[in-house]
Amino acid sequence: MSGLKVNFNKSKVFGVGAPSLEVSNWSAPLGCEPSSFPFTYLGIPVGENMNLKKSWRPIIEKFNSKLSSWKAKSLSFDGRVTLAKAVLGNLPTFFMSIFKVPMGVIDTLEKIRRKFIWSKEYNKKSICWIGWEKITAPQKVGGIGLGSIQSLNISLLAKWLWRLQSDSSELWAKVICCVHNLEGRNWSCFASSTSKGVWNNITKIRSMMAKVNIDPKEIVSWNSDRRCWVSEFVIDNTFSVKLFRERLELAGHIVCDGPFNWNKMIPFKILCFTWRAKQGRIPSAIELQSRGITIPSTVCGACKQEEETSDHMLITCQSARTVMNEILNWCEIRCDNFNSVRYMLLFLSRWSKCKKKEKPA
Ligand SMILES: [Zn+2]
Repeated sequence: MSGLKVNFNKSKVFGVGAPSLEVSNWSAPLGCEPSSFPFTYLGIPVGENMNLKKSWRPIIEKFNSKLSSWKAKSLSFDGRVTLAKAVLGNLPTFFMSIFKVPMGVIDTLEKIRRKFIWSKEYNKKSICWIGWEKITAPQKVGGIGLGSIQSLNISLLAKWLWRLQSDSSELWAKVICCVHNLEGRNWSCFASSTSKGVWNNITKIRSMMAKVNIDPKEIVSWNSDRRCWVSEFVIDNTFSVKLFRERLELAGHIVCDGPFNWNKMIPFKILCFTWRAKQGRIPSAIELQSRGITIPSTVCGACKQEEETSDHMLITCQSARTVMNEILNWCEIRCDNFNSVRYMLLFLSRWSKCKKKEKPA
């Protein structure tokens, strides 16, 4: 005997299909409190209808508090992107790995992230400099790689399809198979459309994957030669959510704006600025004016000759050119003057041998 005893003071009695009076009568002799559904067990709501938006309110509130306006005010753009990424990485993952998040909730969470990234002043109208599509798109296709909440949800749920087949001897897998009558089917992950419950909700990801032309058999399929279940997303016998999410994100995004070299040697702050400048989406006078902001003059304050665009500020203005030529000389790069950030990045991506000048003795 382990000597483990039930702590009746901390325990509660629940009745399934029983009237509350009857539950109270049962609980009294045990010294427990009677309780009812829904309740929370190990942080997961039990008996709650997670298809309803109101069931997700605590998650939305937590998400809101983590991405609050005072944090937005104290962070730069790259800092806000990093925090928005990190909060999604830890906060709702627990719930997202069990429940399919309703679209209304996903929209609300995305709205909170969007507001956090672009708005410094709470409740004030902010400028969204770059489309949300490009913010969430993978870095491989020219986005900033924030990732969508829906793709995270689908990837976390997809793991269960793999686990049902690979851990088929586990008790939970046996229960799911019995409840949904999945035994003996050729490929038996999916519950019939008439059944209900958490598993049925999980397998709804099939239709979401179909939208981006991903066959569920990529997640798990039977290999008759090796006589085992295989998956394209398994590394060391573990399903990689990250790998599958990347597959989903790439399938759902077209190439945005040409590739961008997110070089890990360069600080993320610099990369974010360059990425925005390449698209002309930094607060130059012309860009601000085109977004309805009153500007006394759109002429460049440095040379007072040309209109202040992002390319002019960073590349073609005489003061910018002087600095740029110094850098190019220092790196021993010979080239004609650039005329845009985009052209400069294209040139530099082709040029790879940057030899530093030796310091004079
Ligand atoms: Zn100028």
